Amino acid sequence: MNKSDSCLMEISMNRNGFHLSPEPDTADIVIFNTCSVRNHAENRAIARMKSARGLPGGRDKLVICAGCMAQRIGKELIANGTADIAAGPYQSPRIGEFVAAWLTDHRKRTFLSQEIADFSDRINEDRALERDPADWHEWVTITHGCENFCSYCIVPHVRGKLISVSSGKILSYIRDLTARGVTEITLLGQNVNQYGMDCGEIPFFRLLEKTASIEGLNRINFLTSHPKDFSNDIISVIKDHRTISRAIHLPLQSGSDRILTLMNRGYLMKDYRGIIDVIAAELDDFSLSTDLIVGFPGETVDEYRETLRAVETLQFDEAYTYAYSPRSGTAAFDLPETITPDEKRDRLAELIEVQRNISRTKLEGRIDRTEEMIIEAISKKSSRDVVGKTFLNHPVVLPGVPEDIGKIIRVRITGLKGATLYGERTA
Ligand code: SAM
Ligand code: SF4
Repeated sequence: MNKSDSCLMEISMNRNGFHLSPEPDTADIVIFNTCSVRNHAENRAIARMKSARGLPGGRDKLVICAGCMAQRIGKELIANGTADIAAGPYQSPRIGEFVAAWLTDHRKRTFLSQEIADFSDRINEDRALERDPADWHEWVTITHGCENFCSYCIVPHVRGKLISVSSGKILSYIRDLTARGVTEITLLGQNVNQYGMDCGEIPFFRLLEKTASIEGLNRINFLTSHPKDFSNDIISVIKDHRTISRAIHLPLQSGSDRILTLMNRGYLMKDYRGIIDVIAAELDDFSLSTDLIVGFPGETVDEYRETLRAVETLQFDEAYTYAYSPRSGTAAFDLPETITPDEKRDRLAELIEVQRNISRTKLEGRIDRTEEMIIEAISKKSSRDVVGKTFLNHPVVLPGVPEDIGKIIRVRITGLKGATLYGERTA
């Protein structure tokens, strides 16, 4: 979502006469697009804002804090001089206007909230016109905000309530993109499966189906799904359309029913397993990734072990694992923390190790298979190799040339090194 917001900021800045600096350290204006999900991310962003000020000429730089942190603690950052402008995530498409006004008018430190009255649409049709024609992929925001209020999560507090973009606008935007050479899109939202529930729009599976009927798309991804809203209709639509990615990201968060309930996730382990059973029965090939949190307040060793067991039985291809980080303003913030930082670190390290071995075994299982992949870039390690991802989102390296970038090819997987598959082109 932040990558997508950064693209909108770039358009808005360009349109107001600013240009991307090739060298961030010498830029006159520095925009930090921030995340508030964990404390660590916020601390790093603050350190980087401060170090931008500390560079030669740094006092004269215009430092802007954008994104969720601006919404959460923007007033503080303005008051203590860390940032000159703090602009919440809804302001991304208008950031250039604010910067231009700041430079011409008052040069007074400014905080811009994201009240609904300030809402600016995150689908910008001009993005289709102004994008780099060589780039074949585009983010498409279909919902803003989130109303799920998972008890640990700051997102609903900083990004506001669920707002679905109209399906007419989304589909015509995607058609414009394909007319300009886009062949891969990612539909974005905090919980895309809730698309339309705020306004009587078509449900997510219909939007996915309509998107898949647009000519010219090689691959359609969607992020993020939520187990409580992941219906069988979605699986049927995926099954019927080869262009919809079979890489399913379905955050589990915990393997313990008690912790899932405390997290306010709205499903239990049996529900999650039920979804995976349907996916496995319906799709001939798929990959599964997830998000997991360890060390939620009150999580016992046995409950943590339930998460390990879930990982072992569900066999995720990939898991994004986090130590619980208390966020002020969330419901879980009021729960007493019972797990020490060292215990959280140990649980996380063990979980990562267990998952790493599973990921490796899953990747080994791809060797000798023939898969479709989209080539994304020249390899950083060798200019004679290209890298890309298969339809299951597995990274593959193979011999290639710059002209291959953006192309869809068939590849036979020949080996595995670290977490990367190696392959060769095949008919
Ligand atoms: N809306 C998406 C979802 O529900 O999965 C993404 C939300 S969040 C930006 C991405 C992941 O960060 C979550 O799935 C969760 O695992 C993790 N996360 C959120 N809040 C957290 C916290 N307070 N401490 C640790 N991890 C957290
Ligand atoms: Fe946060 Fe839950 Fe919403 Fe995801 S679904 S953004 S974890 S509140």
